[in-house]
Amino acid sequence: MSSEEARKVIIIGGGPSGYTSAIYAGRANLDPLVIAGYQAGGQLILTTEVENFPGFPKGIMGPVLMEHMREQAERFGSEIINEDVESVDFSQKPFIIKTYDKTYKAHSVIITTGASARWLGLENEKELIGSGWSSCATCDGAFFKDKIVATIGGGDSAMEEATFLTRYAKKVYLIHRRDEFRASKTMQQRALSNPKIEVIYNSVVTKLFSEKDGFIQKLTGIEIENQNTGEKSQLSIDGGFVAIGHTPNTKIFDNQIELDTSGYIITKQHTMTSVEGVFAAGDVVDTRYRQAITAAGDGCRAAIDAEKWLTDNNLD
Ligand code: NAP
Repeated sequence: MSSEEARKVIIIGGGPSGYTSAIYAGRANLDPLVIAGYQAGGQLILTTEVENFPGFPKGIMGPVLMEHMREQAERFGSEIINEDVESVDFSQKPFIIKTYDKTYKAHSVIITTGASARWLGLENEKELIGSGWSSCATCDGAFFKDKIVATIGGGDSAMEEATFLTRYAKKVYLIHRRDEFRASKTMQQRALSNPKIEVIYNSVVTKLFSEKDGFIQKLTGIEIENQNTGEKSQLSIDGGFVAIGHTPNTKIFDNQIELDTSGYIITKQHTMTSVEGVFAAGDVVDTRYRQAITAAGDGCRAAIDAEKWLTDNNLD
């Protein structure tokens, strides 16, 4: 198919949501094109073992799970390209989607560009993700049974993650840059009344320490700086969980579809956005669950909605 011919559906994003949309759209004979991004695979590419995705009783490595999903999408006729979308034009039909060097047209679009966890921006932070440093307690907490961990942040996520981590860890430091939390009172109370949680107020993490463990570099501790006194101290920890919010990957959709004040896509009717024929699924619409399985389920819904919409509009 030439890039000039309009596709029935183009899926933007190559995480669990995008690939699941592709599996469903492919099986519905919609010949989907998936523009998966240069870093296809989504956030699971950054994790090690995934133990809570149903169907894998012994767990599965995040990147392997994503490779399986991609293969499954290809098996049903999806064309998948590892390019980034640079701009879209949803004001004309068919819709226009541009990558660095190509222009695509589509009668329907499913956006599954996800959200990125915010990180602290420390020097060796990226290198330690999955080796003691994480942004998801639900995903990685179980690896820290009887260990010492820290959660960074002062919102609901930080409270929730710190409380969740006490199921496994013997001690959880909750490190916050101010002396007041923005989290809801209920979630604060739950965290602060937990005897395993020790709060360190007015402090920021300034360094990550690590040591070689076999072939990989593992987190062993952090340096924190008190914001009032400037005093620096070190903490030995086995795991660190950054919970300072997420940023939805929606920059290219600004002024094209309705976004909420934080930049998440607003869906109007099931998974359809403010533009008819444009659907959104996964973390790019989800401020609450953010799990691989919920993103996958959402991707299924969007593909079914897109298929129905194409049929109703005689575009299938
Ligand atoms: P959030 O409410 O934006 O809180 C982010 C926290 O991280 C704030 O305490 C902020 O500190 C801190 N922070 C930001 N940048 C930082 C940095 N560079 N260094 C250190 N600390 C930094 O984010 P969230 O907790 O992820 O919550 C997002 C939304 O989801 C909220 O609306 C929340 O209510 C909701 N949520 C709900 C539930 C639930 O109901 N079960 C669970 C999780 C999240 P400051 O306070 O100083 O700005």
